[in-house]
Amino acid sequence: MSIVEKIKKIKNEIPENVKLVAVSKTKSNQEIMEAYNGGHRVFGENRIQELTQKHEDLPKDIKWHMIGHLQSNKVKYIAGFIDLIHAVDSLKLLKEIQKQAEKQQRNISCLLQFCIAKEESKFGLSLNDAVAILESDDYQNLTHVRIAGVMGMGTFTYNKSQTQAEFRALKEIYTKLKAKYFAKDKHFKEISMGMSGDYKIAIDEGSTMLRLGSSIFGNKSAY
Ligand SMILES: *Cc1c(COP(=O)(O)O)cnc(C)c1O
Repeated sequence: MSIVEKIKKIKNEIPENVKLVAVSKTKSNQEIMEAYNGGHRVFGENRIQELTQKHEDLPKDIKWHMIGHLQSNKVKYIAGFIDLIHAVDSLKLLKEIQKQAEKQQRNISCLLQFCIAKEESKFGLSLNDAVAILESDDYQNLTHVRIAGVMGMGTFTYNKSQTQAEFRALKEIYTKLKAKYFAKDKHFKEISMGMSGDYKIAIDEGSTMLRLGSSIFGNKSAY
């Protein structure tokens, strides 16, 4: 099956309100252009150098999502064009995004990343961490940052009920934050969860945004 056929098949399987981010990390410009020429526009990358290079090389109407861990000192390289930053896990990072967004005179949309997996993972907030950020004075000054929702990664496991419980926990976090801090904020609406191995479970648990790499492009990387 071609890349375009795979995207079509997946889009047919998923509800209309669920967005598809084609994770193109390690994939060539040619593979991305195949998807692009088939009509797809939203691509996810997890390394800054690769992301900025692809942004430079490829059509400017592509919506680039940064899905990987982002260091504060790298924000400046993507602030001018990034469509959505998925993995925000600190106030420090939010403040740097604010600073760079202001410089670029644009608003930058971000998701708060939560640590939902049982696996030892370095990144991601707890609900308490997020509350501390959202109730801080600094947060009130983030005029150019738009919190657009939450993001999480399930444990890499074949145990479906564990994955289901983790996604359910992320949905609960989303619902709590929405009610308490974003009830009137129409931008806070995304739950980014689900990868190639677990996206069907993610949809059942309320995902609004899937990040799919290998199920679109296969497992072979360009380098
Ligand atoms: C690589 C990656 C994906 C896509 O993984 P697949 O299993 O290839 O679908 C999704 N999210 C993040 C954060 C990733 O790094």
